[in-house]
Amino acid sequence: MSTKYVVVLGSLMSGLGKGVVTSSILKLLDFHGYKVLPVKFDGYLNYDAGTMNPFQHGEVFVLDDKSEVDMDFGIYERFLNKNLTGDLSITGGKLFSAITSKERQGSYLGEDIQIIPHLTDDIIRRIEAIARSRKPDVLVIEVGGTVGDIENSYFIEAMRQLALRHDVAFVNLTYIPNLAAVSEQKTKPAQIGLRLLLQAGIRPDFLICRTSTKLLEATKEKLALFSNLKTDNIMDDPDLTTLYQLPLRLKEQGLDRLLIKKLDLPKKKEDMRKVSEWRNRVGRIINPTGGLNVAVVGKYTSMRDSYASVKEALIHAGSAENTQINIRWVESSDYESKSPDYSKVDDIDAMVVTGGFGKRGIEGMINLIRYARERRMPYLGLCLGMQLMAVEYARNICGMEDANSSEFNGNSKYKVIDLLPWQKRVRNKGGTMRLGAQECRIVERKSYTFDAYKKNMISERHRHRYEFNNKYLKALKSKGLRFTGFTRDRKLVEFIEWPQGFGIGTQSHPELRSRLESPAPTFVELVRAAKKRHSGLMQVENKLK
Ligand code: GLN
Repeated sequence: MSTKYVVVLGSLMSGLGKGVVTSSILKLLDFHGYKVLPVKFDGYLNYDAGTMNPFQHGEVFVLDDKSEVDMDFGIYERFLNKNLTGDLSITGGKLFSAITSKERQGSYLGEDIQIIPHLTDDIIRRIEAIARSRKPDVLVIEVGGTVGDIENSYFIEAMRQLALRHDVAFVNLTYIPNLAAVSEQKTKPAQIGLRLLLQAGIRPDFLICRTSTKLLEATKEKLALFSNLKTDNIMDDPDLTTLYQLPLRLKEQGLDRLLIKKLDLPKKKEDMRKVSEWRNRVGRIINPTGGLNVAVVGKYTSMRDSYASVKEALIHAGSAENTQINIRWVESSDYESKSPDYSKVDDIDAMVVTGGFGKRGIEGMINLIRYARERRMPYLGLCLGMQLMAVEYARNICGMEDANSSEFNGNSKYKVIDLLPWQKRVRNKGGTMRLGAQECRIVERKSYTFDAYKKNMISERHRHRYEFNNKYLKALKSKGLRFTGFTRDRKLVEFIEWPQGFGIGTQSHPELRSRLESPAPTFVELVRAAKKRHSGLMQVENKLK
């Protein structure tokens, strides 16, 4: 069977959750046994998301194959429970750099190179190449940005042309505001959005309406009139307790059935076991039996998207452990003074210190790590959170007063975290960190790290330049810090643990591999430890005893 396509386009504004709609479509088709893959178009001229500031653009997501991609890939993977690859991310930057280098090679000699047909052809060529090499039954393409933007206009034009050659279903995500004063769902903005899409030559097959409540029949009828669609093809995407409910809500409205019909996909048997497993996991998020307060310490906490994967990994672990996770976002720069006020974190059951770059907020993180260690508060340090766990230990337990990472103090006497020689030679910043899936050997069987993974060889994703400096390994070890995991060649430290209480630091980013159906082991272990401590039945036991 040749590949069929679903194209998801957003109208009116960003932030409606196009990634979640795309992921829900992928999941619904996956339930039915179709082989699916996402593709994401981003109009920005960066080659990839790796050089973007998480403050402005949200989290940079990293795939196994070292690609640094848009955070929507995180949503796709968390829903699909599959590892994706970087070629599925097509950016303006990749397209323009390929076209100008081809031009320099003389591939277009004599021609005027234009957006249409050269760039649009290139987009279609890339899509068809993915279809040919991976042979998915359905490629679900998310067009980043909003219809009417200059940035994504050439992608939209390419999709119009794609439909001339292949079976394509267009899904338009739009917004229906609910005016409280008149208690009415207003359709005018959606009508205007639709008009823009029609102007671009695309008539949607499905209209998905982001709303605060379910769509009223009268609203559907009005929209049907303006869009030439049957009311059945107009669906709602209302506010939900968790985004993982959306595939189920769209299923209730028949999206999977209608998509299969529209694309004329061969009949397959839906895997009801998978559907009910998903339903159960979602049910445990909506109706948990207990609750825990988890502090997520970071330096970009006012922009929640910066930590999307950490947040979701906690939700996944909470679902696995049937516990509601109340995240307390803690901005580390508020804890920089000599004696910070910890009253906002004293009822916390666990602490996660996230990854990050640059000096701001670092001393606050170190103070908070000390606070957690001294109170035996279950702790998980992610990348930077592991590096600072080592720095805190060096300073406060090993007497290395000005210990630091050379990223923050190049003059420190004790550079417990430092650049490797090959990183010192790096000149180009894009794509040159230690990236992607890296194997790690867990060397201590009696450790929380081993309890989490239950095996010796594991693999997690990475994104960092600095490493633990082995010059200090002996000194920290002699004062109790445990080195529980190393790279396969044993040259680089991957996991550390506190000798007392539950405290794991990892140089990797396990949150990037966490999915609802396979939560990150370290997060599950953290939630378990927090539950124990919370219930007060058991102090988190000392692994060495
Ligand atoms: N800034 C640190 C490094 O580059 C940590 C990076 C991270 O937390 N992802 O090594």
